[in-house]
Amino acid sequence: MLDFGSLLLATALSGACLSGTLVAIWLTARQSRFVLTMAVGILLLVSHVIAFWLYGQYASPWLGQAMLSLLVAGFFVVFTSADQYIERGWSGPATMPIAAIIALTVVVTAAGYDGLGFVIAYSTVTGILIMIATAFWTSKNVDRRVLAPVSLLTGSSAVSFALCAFVIVQQKQWVLGGVPRNWAEDVNTVVVVACMTALGALTISFHHLRTQSRLTEETLTDPLTGLMNRRALSSLHDGTRFGPGMALAMVDLDHFKRTNDVFGHVVGDRVLQRFADVVRRQYRHGVEGFRLGGEEFAIVMSGMSALEVYETLRKIGASFGAEVVSTKLGPLRSTVSVGVCFGDDEARSLEQLLLGADAALYAAKRAGRNRVATAETAGNGAYREPELLFA
Ligand code: GH3
Ligand code: MG
Ligand code: MG
Repeated sequence: MLDFGSLLLATALSGACLSGTLVAIWLTARQSRFVLTMAVGILLLVSHVIAFWLYGQYASPWLGQAMLSLLVAGFFVVFTSADQYIERGWSGPATMPIAAIIALTVVVTAAGYDGLGFVIAYSTVTGILIMIATAFWTSKNVDRRVLAPVSLLTGSSAVSFALCAFVIVQQKQWVLGGVPRNWAEDVNTVVVVACMTALGALTISFHHLRTQSRLTEETLTDPLTGLMNRRALSSLHDGTRFGPGMALAMVDLDHFKRTNDVFGHVVGDRVLQRFADVVRRQYRHGVEGFRLGGEEFAIVMSGMSALEVYETLRKIGASFGAEVVSTKLGPLRSTVSVGVCFGDDEARSLEQLLLGADAALYAAKRAGRNRVATAETAGNGAYREPELLFA
């Protein structure tokens, strides 16, 4: 059976290795700042464990002050890392109160009341752990799958530190002259070993989850306009049955080749971005815009009457027509042609709606551009000649 000191030193060693691993991960992904912060937090806790062990050997006041400060500071940095991950902004305002508590611990310990210093430090750590759990539970920015491990980790550690404080208070050990030795401390040592390992593992999983969701977002987003791309349209709507109240519109910029030829590609790109901005301004629940490629876009609308669909498309067409892009050759205005296809009782597929909208778009172009046309089914997937809605 290992003695208490060896256990503490083994904990410190594994914590130090964990911290090194996190730094190595951060070096390859520097945008994940919370990984580096966690490495610093764990390193501070490792230093606390070593100081705790030393304080058990030679209890000098300054060692006691450093040891308790490292404990509170270490957990606060862990909290800061969690805060950076979920982007809550809680750690900034909490810095001053935590610094004040550390100062209080130092003063109390310097005055010889190291037992009281332990009580203050343990209670603060309990509070910090509760704050981490609360921040995670109340954040909208968190993958629900991580809530169970975070709660288990923060919950068990909070209880463990609270018990350590409770036992010192119960035994009125305001002056210890060494490290506290009681059953709660023994339990806490085991909890701290498990806690450090779990913190490291969680940080690595958080990093993976974040990287994964960033990559997914990137593969589904068009970099020029920021709208979702064709892949996103398929992944969101391949299985959608387009019933009544749903519609898909295909939008194509008019004479865009000429825009490029006359004004240049850079201006062309700006026009595409302007169009995306116009679509975004019409965003509300049930309106999604996609860039299919080139100067072709799709708009999926759901929970809307046919009239609302026309109104939305008309607004997009009119606002875009009113947009002026300033160029070296003077102001530039552009227009769009739109083909829209509605869902119906047969609950059609994405492919069918794209076909219908494309046919309608073609008709809108043929009829002179700058207009919206609609395609309605005439049975067996064949589409009636599109009607022009407005010019
Ligand atoms: P229509 O009114 O019939 O749609 O005519 P159009 O000139 O818009 O159609 P066409 O398909 O001939 O031209 C599309 C042009 O879009 C050709 C291509 O150079 C341009 N294009 C495609 N992708 C981009 C892009 O990302 N940026 C810019 N600036 N131009 C693009
Ligand atoms: Mg085109
Ligand atoms: Mg075009």
